[in-house]
Amino acid sequence: MRHDSYDATCGICQANAGEGASQAVTVYESELWIVRQIGPALGVPGWMMLVTQRHAAGPAHLDDREAESLGPLLRHLERVLEEVTGSLRIYTATMNESFPHFHCHMVPRYENMPNDAVGWDVFDLLRSTGAGEVGVDEAEIGRVTVAYQAALAKTPPPVHDPC
Ligand SMILES: [Zn+2]
Repeated sequence: MRHDSYDATCGICQANAGEGASQAVTVYESELWIVRQIGPALGVPGWMMLVTQRHAAGPAHLDDREAESLGPLLRHLERVLEEVTGSLRIYTATMNESFPHFHCHMVPRYENMPNDAVGWDVFDLLRSTGAGEVGVDEAEIGRVTVAYQAALAKTPPPVHDPC
């Protein structure tokens, strides 16, 4: 369903509305937020994207409810993602470059990474796996996504209570 703020030129608005080419699996959805597996199967298992339901250009453009809920939500999402993946930590980055619509990458940093990529190089794995230069384990990506979805269903994130 299209949000009131729907922008027809925005790929994230299209994905949020279930339109466009994105086949990314949604693992969590609330009134304000959506979490998806980066699509279709890129990077490393458990690479997730947190996006606003609303077409908001970035952190500077979040409304009060989005801003107040982001901290508790991100903490919960990353705690559960760490548990599900057994990763050392979760890399967190938001640039809003492909589309001016808030999207935050949450990337498990495993002990062993493809191409030994760490730090900023991890973000190049989206390109290199997309180009076929680095292989991906699609079955493992699918397994982790389903496990994360199930874990979030079992222990849902706190929902912001409007005052
Ligand atoms: Zn948008």
